[in-house]
Amino acid sequence: MKAAFIRRYGGPEVIEYGEIDDPKISENEVLVRVKAASLNSLDGVVRVGGYKQFVKKFPHILGVDFAGVVEKVGNKVNNVTEGQRVIGFPVLYDGTCEYCKGGMINLCTSFGVIGRDINGSYAELISVPQENVIPFEWDYEEASTFQLSLITAWHALTKRVNLRRGMNVFVWGGSGGVGVFAIQIAKLLGANVISATSEEWKAKKLKEIGADLVINYKEQDVLREVMQYTNGKGVDVVFDSLGPDTLNSSIKMTKKGGDIIVLGVGIKESDTTPINLRALYIKYIRLHGTVIGTKDDLVEAISKVKEGKIKAVIDSVFSLKDAVEAHKKLEENKKVGKIVLKID
Ligand SMILES: [Zn+2]
Repeated sequence: MKAAFIRRYGGPEVIEYGEIDDPKISENEVLVRVKAASLNSLDGVVRVGGYKQFVKKFPHILGVDFAGVVEKVGNKVNNVTEGQRVIGFPVLYDGTCEYCKGGMINLCTSFGVIGRDINGSYAELISVPQENVIPFEWDYEEASTFQLSLITAWHALTKRVNLRRGMNVFVWGGSGGVGVFAIQIAKLLGANVISATSEEWKAKKLKEIGADLVINYKEQDVLREVMQYTNGKGVDVVFDSLGPDTLNSSIKMTKKGGDIIVLGVGIKESDTTPINLRALYIKYIRLHGTVIGTKDDLVEAISKVKEGKIKAVIDSVFSLKDAVEAHKKLEENKKVGKIVLKID
């Protein structure tokens, strides 16, 4: 089969396109003919070697998200059949540890991710455990975006915090893959959404997908604008996927009793920051870490997609053979939403 893979770590140029052996399936696995794969920041982190401890061997095929058609199923597969359209569920889990038994598979002690711990979706075929596909009849390119980013935003805003109608939420990184879903989900829950960006064309897009206020952080003082918008109170929830550079601003703009959600594969092991602990405790702020989500999150979020309440935001589409160009685009700060690889 044709695939885009790496044999060493580095910049976008380390991605090779060519022939690679077809994947085999075991009795519990599903072989999917991939029609579209959307890019995530995680793909870039794997490519540069940020997850060396999880990548088992080279060549390694990148890619977490995919939409396609079931080509073949193992003997024990009972959730999908050949010819069915499916999307992936990115989290690999054992189903037996205390977290899995408690329904928190995203905290599994054997936690893994498609495209990191096993070969990924930048390929004509992918084999995954049956737990890692769900049926979904939808346009392939759009469907390929409704996975890692959507689950992460859905889990964060519906499970980690109790975002409700009338609340104010600030979304850092609103034009990112997770950000565009966070804005839509916060809107869907009835919140007023504030975000920030550096370019007018991005601000226009963020407003189109639901942001009520978009601050130009190069020209305006973000904190002052947030305080003005919230009548000096601050926001109820901050969705912070940027990390050390923004956390103290997040603390400043959160109102008393509010919540800050910290997430993002872009945050490195070495990223530390002094935080204003006094402000944190005096303001009674809850600080939450979050990672991806569960299959229930995917099912719930997909139901909102079907109702037309959450939409795909596709920045650009590339052919699989142009995965290098797609990764160059992923690294530039010049996109809104998801980049998709089309595989035909
Ligand atoms: Zn587990």
